[in-house]
Amino acid sequence: MTKAYDPNNIFARILRGEIPNKTVLETAHSLAFHDITPQAPVHVLVIPKGAYVDFAEFAAKATAEELVDFHRACAKVCESLGLTGPEGYRAITNAGTHGMQEVPHYHLHILGGRVLGRLVA
Ligand code: AMP
Repeated sequence: MTKAYDPNNIFARILRGEIPNKTVLETAHSLAFHDITPQAPVHVLVIPKGAYVDFAEFAAKATAEELVDFHRACAKVCESLGLTGPEGYRAITNAGTHGMQEVPHYHLHILGGRVLGRLVA
């Protein structure tokens, strides 16, 4: 299934510097920033700089360098925001209409700082 990437989605505009963001970490291939509507005391989004619509496309098409950079960036975010203790955190991603994805640029939500409740459909 090929999904067209919309170059004017809000995260693409953040990457181009057209919309401000509260950056947590920037690496060669990834950007992490605070969610504008946090659902938990910590709510950070990590995005690849490349134009990937969702997790499946990123996992299938990104280069090894991009994949490693992205996941190391996620790990650094967890570490720097104090999430790696026993209380932990949640890392989730939404895709498509069933997943209720709002922004069509792949992003991982990293949430923590409170008990998050069970994931239910
Ligand atoms: P999703 O529903 O998984 O696509 O999540 C999109 C997320 O992007 C939501 O949690 C929004 O609050 C967040 N969001 C939308 N616009 C911005 C923005 N300009 N800066 C930071 N986060 C945003």
